[in-house]
Amino acid sequence: MTLAQVKQTTPVGQRMTVSFADGDATRPDLLGGKGAGLARMSQAGLPVPPGFVILTTACPVSTEGWELPQELIAEVRARVSEMEQQTGRTFGGVTRPLLVSVRSGAQISMPGMMDTVLNLGLNAESATALARETGDLAFAVDSYLRFGRMYGEIVLGADGELIAEETEAVAASARAPDADPVAVLERIEATLEATLEATVGQAIPHDPYLQLAHAIEAVFRSWNSRRAVTYRELHGISHDLGTAVVVQAMVFGNLGSPSGTGVAFTRNPLTGERELYGEFLEGGQGEEVVAGTKTPEKLAIAAGRLPDVFDPFREVAARLEQLYGDVLDIEFTVENGQLYLLQVRSAKRTAEAAIRVAADFLREGKLSPAQALDKVSTAQVRLAERPRFDEEAVAQALESGKLLGTGIGASPGHASGQAILDPERAVVVAGQDGSRTDVVLLRPTTSPQDLHGMLAARGFITALGGATSHAAVIARALDKPCVVGCDSLEIDLDKRRFRIGDRWFDEGETLSLDGSTGQIFAGVLPMATTTESSDSLQQLLAVADDAARCRLYARTTTPEQVERALARGASGVTTRLGDILATSGQLEELLDILVSQAGSGETDLTGFDGVIADLLEPVLAAADEVPVAIRAVDFVGDEGMELLDAPRLFAQNPRLAVPLGVPELIATQVRGVSLAARRVACRHAPQLTVRHINDPREAAEIMRIADQQLGGTERASIRVGATLTSPRGVQLAGEILPLVDFIWLEVRGLQATQFGYPPRLLLTREPLDSYLQRGMISSDPRVSIGEGTGRLIAAVAAARMDVDTGVGVRVTGPFGEDIARALLRLGFRTFAVDSGEVHTARLALGKAALAEELDL
Ligand code: ADP
Ligand code: MG
Repeated sequence: MTLAQVKQTTPVGQRMTVSFADGDATRPDLLGGKGAGLARMSQAGLPVPPGFVILTTACPVSTEGWELPQELIAEVRARVSEMEQQTGRTFGGVTRPLLVSVRSGAQISMPGMMDTVLNLGLNAESATALARETGDLAFAVDSYLRFGRMYGEIVLGADGELIAEETEAVAASARAPDADPVAVLERIEATLEATLEATVGQAIPHDPYLQLAHAIEAVFRSWNSRRAVTYRELHGISHDLGTAVVVQAMVFGNLGSPSGTGVAFTRNPLTGERELYGEFLEGGQGEEVVAGTKTPEKLAIAAGRLPDVFDPFREVAARLEQLYGDVLDIEFTVENGQLYLLQVRSAKRTAEAAIRVAADFLREGKLSPAQALDKVSTAQVRLAERPRFDEEAVAQALESGKLLGTGIGASPGHASGQAILDPERAVVVAGQDGSRTDVVLLRPTTSPQDLHGMLAARGFITALGGATSHAAVIARALDKPCVVGCDSLEIDLDKRRFRIGDRWFDEGETLSLDGSTGQIFAGVLPMATTTESSDSLQQLLAVADDAARCRLYARTTTPEQVERALARGASGVTTRLGDILATSGQLEELLDILVSQAGSGETDLTGFDGVIADLLEPVLAAADEVPVAIRAVDFVGDEGMELLDAPRLFAQNPRLAVPLGVPELIATQVRGVSLAARRVACRHAPQLTVRHINDPREAAEIMRIADQQLGGTERASIRVGATLTSPRGVQLAGEILPLVDFIWLEVRGLQATQFGYPPRLLLTREPLDSYLQRGMISSDPRVSIGEGTGRLIAAVAAARMDVDTGVGVRVTGPFGEDIARALLRLGFRTFAVDSGEVHTARLALGKAALAEELDL
C-alpha cells in the first residue's frame, strides 16, 4: 500500500506534526530553529509558503534501517491535504501539481550540515503539467533535473555530478525550439532511472508520497551523518536533540521575471548600518546562493533595479526586527515579483555591528535597556576597541611572506616604526617623547638602563625573556605593545644590523609588531579603524552607568593615560608609585639607597619625597577633578619581583620583604604625596595605600607615621589606607577599616592565593587556557570569582562596613560579566580596573545590575 492509497477515514492524533499556522514559535526545541521561525513569520502574517513541521520528538535515536512509522505517515498525509487546500494544487497532480521542499532544521543551527530536497513531487507527468501550466519548458526541465540530482544524492546516495553529466544531453535537447515537452520530460525520467539503477540499484519512486516518505527518512538520517556528528562534537551540541523536518510548498526563483533567490540581512552585519544587505541571484533556485555555487549580485544593486520587489522587503525586514528584537538573516525567494520568506535567524555579526545595532535598537524602541546591553558582550567591546592592524593587510602580509617571526605577545597593542637597536639612538630618532618618528626598539633584553629609549619607542621587541620580564612589565605599565622571547631575533650592534628568522636587515628598516599574537612583520601595516569613541558605545555605556551606579577607577601611570582613562569614563584613577618611579628611572636610585644603607638599621631618604612629588604632580594635575588612589612602592609585589630580582634584594635588605620593614620608606611617600597634592591643590585628597597589610597593628602604624609626618593642616591633604592582598588581611578587614581612611581588596592576588598559583600566572593565557580545556579545574580564576575568594570577600561585606565609600576592589586583567555579577551581588560598588578595561567594566557592571535587578 502506498501513501496515496492510505485513506484517511479517522482523524489522526496529530502529535508528531504541526502546521506553520499552529506551531508554537517559542519552542525551537520541538520545531527546530527553522520551523519555529517559519511558524512565527506565518503567524505574523508575513509571506511564507505554507507547510508543516515534523517535530524533533519524531527523530529516531538510531536511523539504522529505520522507516517512517504508520501513524506519522498518516499525519503527513493529512498535512499535505491541508497544503493542497491552501495552495489549490495537487501533490503529484497532472494539473497544477504541488511541489514541496523537505528541509532539515535542528534546534541549534548547523548550517549546511544536514540535507534538504527541493521540488519534491515531480515525475514525468507532473513535470509536464508544470511545463504546460507555466508555458516554460526550460523551467520544468531545470526544476525536474534539480530534484533528480538532489533526491539521487541525498535519498539514494548517488553521485550528483554523474547524474548531472548523464542528463546533460536531454537537458540540451529541451532547448530546441520545437522540443516536445512530453517527450523531453519522459526522457529525463528514463535517464534518471537508468543512471540511478545502474549506480545505486534504485530509482526515484513515481509516487510523490513515497518520494516524500523516503525524503523525510533521509533528512532524519542526515542528523547522524558523519559531518553532522563531527560538527556537533566540535560545537558541544548534544547528539540527543534530534532534528525537525520542515515540509514546505515550493516557490520558484527560476520562474518568470522578476524571479530569483537570495539571502538578506536586515542590517549590514559588518558595520551594523541600517541598510538591506545581502545577495540576490536572479533566476536562481534555492541552494545556489547558500552553497556559493554561482555569483549573485549585491542586494543593494538588485533593490535599485527592482524597487517593486525590494521596497516592500524593507517593510518586511522592519517588521521582523520588531518581532525578534534582533538583526536577522533571511533566506528568501522572489517568484514572478512576489516575495516569499523561507528562513529567518539571528544574524551573525562583527563586534562593531553588535555595538551599533544594540544602540540603534535601543533608540528605535525595539529593545529595553537590559535587552540592548545583553546583545553586546565585554569580549566584543574589547575586540571592537583594541587598535589593531587592518585584517586584510595582515592576511596579505601573511600571504606574501612578510611575517618575519613570532615571539611571545607580552603587552597587547600594535605598532609600526623604524627598528632601532639601542635606547640612545631611539631617543635621537624618535625624540624624547616619541613624537618625531615612530620607532620600534629591538633589544636582546631590556633593563632599567633602557627606559629612556622605551619611553621614546612605540613598541619593543626582545629576543629573550618571558611575559613577566622587564620589557613586558614596563610595556604594560606604559601601555605599549611588546613582543618578548623572539628566539629568531639576533642583534649585531657593531654592524648596526639585525636578523629575524633567516633575513638580515639594517637598522632603520620598518617593522610592525602585534603585542597580542607576538607576530612581527616587515614594513608598516595600516591600522583598522576602531570604535573606541563610537557614539553607539557611548550610548550603551551611559545606560549601563545609570543602571550600575558604581565608581570605577582606572589604573594609569602617565598624565596621558590619565586623560585617556577619564575620556573613557573613569570616575577616578589609580596609580602605582612603583611604576611611576620605574618608568622615570628613579626606582634604581631608590633601591641603591635602600641596599647601601641596609646594614645601618637607619634609612635616610631625605630628598626622595621631593622626587616623588615632582613625578606625581603632573599625574595629579591631569586627574584634576577626580579622586586618585596611589599605591605605595612595594618590593613584595609580583611584578616588582621580576623587575628587581627580589630574592637578591631581600638577601641584601630583608626588611624590604615586609610592608613596614623600612618605616622611612612609608614616611617619604607620605611626605611626597602630600607635597604634590598641596602643590596641585587637589579637590579630592589623594589616597595613599600600603600593600600587603595583614594586621590591624600594621594599619595603626601607617596612620601613626602619616600623623607624625604631616603637621596641622597638612594631614588633611591626603588620605591613607591599606591594600589587602592576603586571606588574613581580608579576614581582619573589619578591624582594619575603622583604623584607616579606606581599604582596597586585590581580587587577583586573593585568587592566586586561593589556588596557590603565582599571581602572574593569572595574567597570561597559558598554561591555564590549556589546563581549563583539559578540564583540570572547574572555574577559571582569571574571569570568575570562585567559592574561596567569594566567601572571603563576602566576609568583608558582612562586616557591615560602609562598602560604598570605604572599600574598593581592584581587579587586574579582563573585567567581564562573571566578575561584575559576583562583586555587585556581594555589595561592592567601587572598583579599580586596568585602563583598557574601563569600557568593558562599565558594560559588565551595567549588564549585571540590570540582570540582577539590583536594588541600588
Ligand atoms: P540549509 O539549512 O542548509 O540552509 P534549507 O532548508 O534552508 O537548507 O534550504 C536551502 C535553500 O533551499 C533555502 O535557502 C531556499 O533558498 C531553498 N528552499 C528551501 N525550501 C524552499 C521552498 N519551499 N521554496 C523555494 N526554495 C526553497
Ligand atoms: Mg537555509
